[in-house]
Amino acid sequence: MILPNDFTAEYAAIETEVQAKMHEFFAKGWYILGEEVQAFEKEFASYVGVNHCIGVANGLDALILALKALGVGTGDEVIVPSNTYIASVLAVSHVGATPVFVEPNSLTHNIDPLRIEEKITKKTKAILPVHLYGLLCEMPVIMRVAEKYNVYVVEDCAQAHGATYAGKQAGSWGHVNAFSFYPTKNLGAYGDAGAVTTNDAAIAKKIQMLRNYGSQIRYQNEIIGYNSRLDEIQAGLLRIKLRYLNDWNVMRRATAELFWKEFSDKAWIFPVEPQGYYHVYHQFVVQSEQREADMLALESMGYKCLIHYPIPPYKSNAYKEQYEGMVFPIADELARKVFSLPLHGTMWNKK
Ligand SMILES: *Cc1c(COP(=O)(O)O)cnc(C)c1O
Repeated sequence: MILPNDFTAEYAAIETEVQAKMHEFFAKGWYILGEEVQAFEKEFASYVGVNHCIGVANGLDALILALKALGVGTGDEVIVPSNTYIASVLAVSHVGATPVFVEPNSLTHNIDPLRIEEKITKKTKAILPVHLYGLLCEMPVIMRVAEKYNVYVVEDCAQAHGATYAGKQAGSWGHVNAFSFYPTKNLGAYGDAGAVTTNDAAIAKKIQMLRNYGSQIRYQNEIIGYNSRLDEIQAGLLRIKLRYLNDWNVMRRATAELFWKEFSDKAWIFPVEPQGYYHVYHQFVVQSEQREADMLALESMGYKCLIHYPIPPYKSNAYKEQYEGMVFPIADELARKVFSLPLHGTMWNKK
């Protein structure tokens, strides 16, 4: 059975390096905010093509700290796609702002930039585009709208490590951008981890403080901060995996090609990769009118499929009261029709 993730195959590919790093790590005996975090931040910033990267505890925190650093809070509105993973929406709620949903384009699954403008009000403080399943949003258009209304852009890059449009990486378009390194992401840690990227030095400094009790110098606390640090051990292991990210993305793309050929007779709506975009296939998501039957048939062929995501955030128990009476038909339709074929970076490696 081909599973959506297989960490043993991945580990086999990097075992020697991981073991060497673990030995080094225990020999050194330094666990929080040390050389590994600093080195990873530098290397990841350079990979993304930004001036600053700040390692944090996870992707949700990365989003929350990004919004906090921009001063987004109570009374503000933040535009989010109606079909995203719920973390993007939770981040907005946790800073005290109101998520305002905008429907996606049902072919790209990404927020429809043409629908953003009609949802902008005097209270809008930021737009939070999510590069869903590994395809960049239409960032030039989104940045133009943001500039026109003088609002911030916070990219949710949790599913798009290495994705580009016009050669420009996810995490280098918006003002402050968030990554998750949850184990299943294209770049995943061995536990929870995340990062914020930005070109703004003042914002970077603020996030460095926010993640560490509001402090840069020990026992001097400048602002009301959190404990949301990236572990040394995770940073060290992420440095190893970062060197494989491009190859593993190439593998994901090759697998996508394979699926297209193998399932060309299916009446599905397939993922799209518009001109100029580099899709990194965090997920290979198709739309089917007979999802349950298709998923069963695929399972009998040896492909374990999953649904990303069966319930739009606004219909979740967490939000259904807040959005009572509102309907987002495109998000609803996608939630009814989508399923993901299993695909990951070391899928065809020999064990
Ligand atoms: C995974 C994910 C997150 C949250 O990341 P965590 O590290 O699990 O907190 C946020 N947004 C999107 C789109 C995600 O896929």
